[in-house]
Amino acid sequence: MTSSIGFGSHRLMRAAVLHGAEDVRMEDVPIPVPGPGEVLARVDVASIDFTDRKVYLRGQHPMIKIPGLFGHEWAGTIVEVGPGAEARWRAGQRVVAANSAPCLPDENPVCRQCRRGRPSMCETIQYNNGAFAPYILVPSRLVRINMHEVPADVPAERVVLTEPLACVIHAVRRVPLQLLDTVVILGAGPMGLFWVNTLRRRYGPELVIVSLDYQDDRLAVAKVMGASHGLNSKGGDARELLRAAIGRPDADVVIESVGSLPAHREALGLTGRGGTLVSFGGVAAGQTLPVDIGRVHYEEISILPIYHHTPPDVAEAVQQLVAGEVPVERLITARLPLSELRRALQMVGERTTLRSVLIPDH
Ligand SMILES: [Zn+2]
Repeated sequence: MTSSIGFGSHRLMRAAVLHGAEDVRMEDVPIPVPGPGEVLARVDVASIDFTDRKVYLRGQHPMIKIPGLFGHEWAGTIVEVGPGAEARWRAGQRVVAANSAPCLPDENPVCRQCRRGRPSMCETIQYNNGAFAPYILVPSRLVRINMHEVPADVPAERVVLTEPLACVIHAVRRVPLQLLDTVVILGAGPMGLFWVNTLRRRYGPELVIVSLDYQDDRLAVAKVMGASHGLNSKGGDARELLRAAIGRPDADVVIESVGSLPAHREALGLTGRGGTLVSFGGVAAGQTLPVDIGRVHYEEISILPIYHHTPPDVAEAVQQLVAGEVPVERLITARLPLSELRRALQMVGERTTLRSVLIPDH
C-alpha cells in the first residue's frame, strides 16, 4: 500500500549530515521517497549515544558512510510504504527499528557468517543512518527483519533505546555465567546500567553484580537497577575496593562497558582465575594491549569480544521495553530539539547526562 500523504523528492527536510571528524552540519536534504520494500518513517524521537560521539570525533566508523546522514537510534511513525513492502506495514503505524540488518534467511546467497549462525558478523550487513532528521528511510532488508510495531499506548521515548538494549541482550546471552558468580561491570553509563538490569533480571538475586564508575550519581542508578555494590574507583585501586566490598580482588566475569584502552587494561587485571573478560565497549582499530599469555593460559582467562546484536535480540529488546521491564525513565535525563545536536554531542562527552534524546521539528 502506498499512502497518499504526498511526500516526494521535491520536499526538503533539515537533517544532520556528518562530513568528517567533528564536522556535522544541519542541511536541507530531500525527504527520501521509499523504493520497493522500503518504508519512510517520521522520526518522533531520536537518541544520541557514545557511539554517535565516537563516530563524530573519529569521522569514521564501520557502520556509517561519510559524508552521510547521521544518527542511528530512533522511534517513529510510518508515513509512506514503498511498493511491494510486506502487507503488515501501513502509514500511521508506530514503529521502532534497529540500525542494521544481516542477510535475510531467504536471500541468495546467504553470507558465510550468517550460515555459521553469526549474524552480528554478517559480511554484507546493511547499516542504516539518518535518525537525526525529521524523516528516515528504512531499507527493505531492515523493514523485513529488524523493524517492529509499537503499540499505540507506548510512548516513543520508551522504545527509542531498543538498539543499545539489543546489544546488551545479545551480549548477556553469550556470556558464560553461573548462578553464584561475581560480575564486575566497568562503566555505569546507559550501557553499563542496561547490563546491571539485564543480568539481574536473568539471573535473579544470587548473582553478585558490582558496578564500577567514577561518578556517584551513576552508581546510585546502578544500585536502583539491581547492582549489589556500586563502587567509585576514581583515584583508587579497584582491586582493593573490590576486596573490601566482596572479599576478593577480582571477579569471574568482568564487563568492559567503557570503550577505552585503560578500561580494558583494568578489566583484564580484575578478571580472576577461570574468568572471562568481556570486551563490550568498542575501541578504535589499531590500539594494542599487552597480554600476559602465561597468566591467560595457566589461569584460563577468556577474552570474549561481543559486538552489535542479532534480529532475535532486537525483537527481545522491543518486547522488554514495551512491557515496561526496563526503567528507561531513569536513563533519559535530557531532551533537546534536534537543532541542538552539537550541544547534545558535547553533553555526551561531558557525561553530564545519562542519555539525551532529540526531538525533530516537523
Ligand atoms: Zn550475512
